[in-house]
Amino acid sequence: MIKLFKTAKPQVLIDNGSQWTMAIMQHITNGTNVPENIRGKYRHVDIKNQVIVETNGKCAYCESYVTHQYPGDIEHIIPKSIFPRLTFTWNNLSFVCYWCNNHKRNTIDKKCKLLNPYTDNIDEHLRAFGPIVMHVNSSKRGELTHLEIKLNRKELIERRVEAIKALQNLIDKYERETIVGLKEILRQEIIESSAIDKEFSLYLNQYLTDRGIV
Ligand SMILES: [Zn+2]
Repeated sequence: MIKLFKTAKPQVLIDNGSQWTMAIMQHITNGTNVPENIRGKYRHVDIKNQVIVETNGKCAYCESYVTHQYPGDIEHIIPKSIFPRLTFTWNNLSFVCYWCNNHKRNTIDKKCKLLNPYTDNIDEHLRAFGPIVMHVNSSKRGELTHLEIKLNRKELIERRVEAIKALQNLIDKYERETIVGLKEILRQEIIESSAIDKEFSLYLNQYLTDRGIV
């Protein structure tokens, strides 16, 4: 998980968000089921495209690229099942992978909330140690977040190890290179390969910091 920044609200939400919310709340007040054609409006293609832009096509929680293998889900950071009024609230929407979406429970502990990548400073709560992520500063919210969403699941660790190995290969090439121009190209490649739009950038950046390379 890395810090994310909210982009401009999509026009379709500006135009319809309040009306859709009122429709949902009306059904809840009346005790009737909210029809899927109202409840699912948050899946509008413009909304999905916009959350994909702001997460760089990665899961907001585990930083996997999700569009390659699985189309990915629009995430309600605060569960819509508890706060239906937030179903179409732009600041409550993000983009996540199938697995993180499934692990995250539809509950809220007011005393210890899951980290919100848009509003929390993630590095005050979580840090990468090689291919795993751990809570720091005795952060209970960090601990709850990585445990509940299972951010250290085996499949993720394996893929992070591969990403770190690929980065180390680049570092080895960089360190062996003696031609100044080629060395500079490799240095740029190292920086680009760990940029925030790349998969597992939290781990790759921390690796570079720990190796004293940035
Ligand atoms: Zn994920």
